[in-house]
Amino acid sequence: MSHFEYQNGVLHAEGVALSTIAENYGTPAYVYSKSQLTGNFDAYANACVGRDALVCYAMKANSNLAILDLLARRGAGFDIVSGGELLRVIAAGGDPKKVIFSGVGKSVEEMRLALTHDILCFNVESIPELHRLNEVAGSMGKKARISLRVNPNVDAKTHPYIATGLKASKFGVAFDDALETYRTAAALPHLDVSGIDCHIGSQLLDDAPLLEALDKLIELIDALGAEGIHLHHLDIGGGLGIDYGDGAPVPVGDYLGRLFKRIDAWRAQKHGGKPIKVIFEPGRSIVGNAGVLLTRVEFIKHGEEKNFCIVDAAMNDMARPAMYQAWMDMQPVVKTESDAAMFDVVGPICESGDWLARDRELNVAPGDLLVMKTAGAYGMTMASNYNTRGRAVELIVDGDKVHIVRQRENPADLFALESVIK
Ligand SMILES: *Cc1c(COP(=O)(O)O)cnc(C)c1O
Repeated sequence: MSHFEYQNGVLHAEGVALSTIAENYGTPAYVYSKSQLTGNFDAYANACVGRDALVCYAMKANSNLAILDLLARRGAGFDIVSGGELLRVIAAGGDPKKVIFSGVGKSVEEMRLALTHDILCFNVESIPELHRLNEVAGSMGKKARISLRVNPNVDAKTHPYIATGLKASKFGVAFDDALETYRTAAALPHLDVSGIDCHIGSQLLDDAPLLEALDKLIELIDALGAEGIHLHHLDIGGGLGIDYGDGAPVPVGDYLGRLFKRIDAWRAQKHGGKPIKVIFEPGRSIVGNAGVLLTRVEFIKHGEEKNFCIVDAAMNDMARPAMYQAWMDMQPVVKTESDAAMFDVVGPICESGDWLARDRELNVAPGDLLVMKTAGAYGMTMASNYNTRGRAVELIVDGDKVHIVRQRENPADLFALESVIK
């Protein structure tokens, strides 16, 4: 079930009317449902019960401390892509020993920070990165646990910007180069070769490409084992999609069930029954449908060819439509009976690319409230201050309680680090 439902014609987040939230906290606002968030995580956790598995939430999807804290308390690890994200995990009380570090451009400083906190694993994406990490670990008298991000070259059939497992991708090590790269890693004295990982793309509604990628990873684990390189974990990445209103993904439990079945069969037949830890890196499927972006209509403008509904949220609050031409569902907070017309929903920013939804049938007037649904992932984390717009307030609703988990930025904060030349 969804935790965003109409009650008496008014859209609610759990037990609180979004109209009440707009009155009390203003707009634009990101509103998250605690139950939806924790339920999404539990779907993964429940499918992993009794297994050696770790769900590392890919926090670039939404890195608010309150969200990290709620997930950490349920046992989540974290997939980070920067030193800043590691500091967030620590600030939220998460366990650095459950952190894996992804990304193609880790700096020396970031490596040092992660080694200081003894993270679980570095997901290494290139040979130069292996050498840099080996040097940094050596200089600290440590050994770095590593996994290689292998590019299994399966077509995730998603938007090109979020497909990451193809040959032309900047991510990972080519499948055909993987064995040689593992040999290089195994020969470096300050690295501890511990796993294998991949991440083939995002917003996958079908698990077939993920299972195909799993088969390719297993093939490599067998080949490495034959050379005496034994891996302790297998990390299948994230990528499971959510329903933006245009199609539902395979349920998490079904996907994990099929994945574990394949792993169990392989372990029994070829892996000598030996255990292997399984790691997941879900982002979008944990937070995406747990958040909405609440916005108020400023003006209605009738153009020559189109009607525009100008709202107080913009591409700086939610970049997905402008960046990926993403289709996001727009709904009125208060349902009305009267006639709808076609509108483009746009923000106040001085760019033609500043749109949130196109060609939508809406019944709207100035002052009305709208929500962009399924906006919890890659919303606030991609927000900017373009046009000197403070970022939106973030709220978590828990039953009939509303908690501010990030205050609205005020313009003075935005230029506080700037100075004029004396
Ligand atoms: C972004 C990312 C994820 C999370 O992807 P989702 O599609 O949000 O699940 C996982 N792993 C890596 C390496 C990523 O870059």
